[in-house]
Amino acid sequence: MFPRRLIASAGLAVALMTSTTQATEMTATDTNPLLAPWIGPYGGVPAFDKARVEQLKPGLEAAMAERLAEIERIATNPEPASFENTIAEYERAGRALDRVSTVYGIYRSTLKDEAVRAVELEMEPRLAAHRDQVTQNEKLFARIAAVYETREKSGLTPEQQRLAWLHYTNFVRAGAKLEPGAKKRLSAINQQLASLYAKFSQNVLADENDGQLVIEREADLAGLPASVREGAAQVAASRGQADRWIVANTRSSVEPFLTYSDRRDLRERAWRMFVSRGDNGGPTDNNAIITEILQLRAERAKLLGYETHAHWRLENAMAKDPRRAMELMEAVWTPAVARVREEVADMQAIADKAGAGIRIEPWDYRYYAEKVRKARYDLDETEITPYMQLENLREGMFHMARELFGFHFKPVDPAKVPVYHPDVRVWEVNDPAGKLVGLWYFDPYARQGKRSGAWMNAYRPQERFDGDVKTIVSNNSNFVKGKPGEPVLISWTDAQTLFHEFGHALHGLSSSVNYPSLAGTRVARDYVEFPSQLLEHWLSTPEILDRYALHYQTGKPIPKELVEKIERADKFNQGFKTVEYLSSALIDMKLHLAGTAKIDPDRFERETLAALGMPSEIVMRHRTPQFMHVFGSDGYSAGYYSYLWSDTLTADAWEAFTEAGGAWDKGVARRLRDNVFSVGNTIDPADGYRAFRGRDAGIAALMRKRGFPVPAATAVPATQSR
Ligand SMILES: [Zn+2]
Repeated sequence: MFPRRLIASAGLAVALMTSTTQATEMTATDTNPLLAPWIGPYGGVPAFDKARVEQLKPGLEAAMAERLAEIERIATNPEPASFENTIAEYERAGRALDRVSTVYGIYRSTLKDEAVRAVELEMEPRLAAHRDQVTQNEKLFARIAAVYETREKSGLTPEQQRLAWLHYTNFVRAGAKLEPGAKKRLSAINQQLASLYAKFSQNVLADENDGQLVIEREADLAGLPASVREGAAQVAASRGQADRWIVANTRSSVEPFLTYSDRRDLRERAWRMFVSRGDNGGPTDNNAIITEILQLRAERAKLLGYETHAHWRLENAMAKDPRRAMELMEAVWTPAVARVREEVADMQAIADKAGAGIRIEPWDYRYYAEKVRKARYDLDETEITPYMQLENLREGMFHMARELFGFHFKPVDPAKVPVYHPDVRVWEVNDPAGKLVGLWYFDPYARQGKRSGAWMNAYRPQERFDGDVKTIVSNNSNFVKGKPGEPVLISWTDAQTLFHEFGHALHGLSSSVNYPSLAGTRVARDYVEFPSQLLEHWLSTPEILDRYALHYQTGKPIPKELVEKIERADKFNQGFKTVEYLSSALIDMKLHLAGTAKIDPDRFERETLAALGMPSEIVMRHRTPQFMHVFGSDGYSAGYYSYLWSDTLTADAWEAFTEAGGAWDKGVARRLRDNVFSVGNTIDPADGYRAFRGRDAGIAALMRKRGFPVPAATAVPATQSR
């Protein structure tokens, strides 16, 4: 997954606001370290050593006030509007708010305690109101519109023209052209939504923190490999239950348990706990919140002149229209379900042969899939894990970055750059000439208060219109921290995720643009996963595995035969993976195409899945009450399809490498850097892709990648746009 925080300077996704309280904390500017410009090496770094939760609220308040004053100066400039005095100034505005928001975002996602929750509940609606206050500033919008309308004849560069287009479009999409009454209602909706998103996220996190499967007898660990047992012991120790084992209610704890535990009853309990997050009745139940969010989103879309929330969200994505996203999903759904039937039959046969006397249920899928893999490919995940040492794989990622991008990673002296938690480490990134590219922060381990999953964010985007500003990016994940001094071993899937998130980081680090709103990963939602998904492919190259997949005890590289088995099993279980994901993406889209109807989420989910022919052996990867992508913010709402859309490009782009000289082909890598990784949002992504590949991507490569039949007429023109 990707950056949660796009709060920073750019137009709609970001503007901010306060109403009447802005004067209250002006003195905080002098004393609140969150507001101060970042100082120190590398063009300045966040002063995490000085940051405190208590500074978040006054910091945000003062920064919003400062931004409003800056916006007012731009809006009331007596000179006629020009790119320089309007758009460029708008890019310069709000820097203090960017800085505070960075720290606030880190507290929200990785250090969330009671105090942070309280700040979030209070400040989220106020930040939403602030954003509306900026986009509803009529004088400012008139000036942006004037620059936009004359952009082609006022001597602007193509990048400046695109920036004017972006801000103009974002303002319009945020309601800048509405009547005053409608604007007022819109802002009320946005504030209400912001509160609901915060509550939704807090409920999911509460269920993840509080839920646990406690195992008291060693015999109940049957089937679990040593690494999973040790992980469960660590979790128990961290929760003060040293003589027990705990399966935490998070993906990284539950999935390995479901894969290996021989105890079907415990698998079922772990499964029920995990898929019920946000759906347990009581104070952390999200169903009523979802109903309200959907109604408010539908009303907002109507107010803005769109048929549905999905139409509004997709207008500025590559897909442009929900129909095209649906076409792609439906083209893949049918063959994926057909593959699931085959997978289930294979698993049932193994269960029957063993005399299990069961019918495959969702809590059996991972377990029996593993047995099929073993039988068919002689491949056992537990054989791979001893070679998957986190720190070695990180070195492998650095190797990839060096070969493909010319980036050199060097650890930063911890005394020089403060971090927000002792587990976080920092590297500086340099180009081959030794010139600084940026900084990379790495926060790998799970802890209470950190949300689950993995993600990248940019603390500071690259820019150079006012001087050369280097980017700061971070990768975050939830690996179970091992005992001190012992290597952390991760699964093959986790290793792919590691490379995925690093792909986002490299997208940010490669950025070479002038204006921050167009930098790095600030691209269309259904395009942003393409660079990251693509880089997952390098994990399984011999160059990486031979050098970096070393056994944690013997130091020997992963055997060739094992790598060959991994390659042969590459398309294994794709039915499961695709259906698990696609069912979530389809529910997301259909929820947001349903318009103003009052929706009961449980019932909608049940009936829609039945109509789709959802296999009963699989549950959605994210059930509605825990679907953070969709209800934790507007982020991936009507946008979870983006991963499939991007994967269409990913599969096709990978074939560009395999058709040339392989994964390390310098020419293809160069074209990838020049047209995809470095350009940010300065060009239309479809144009960028075409420049890289020489044509648009069709669906054929995607189907080949997943091992599904390639349709005769590959009619879905996935990357064609505007
Ligand atoms: Zn991602």
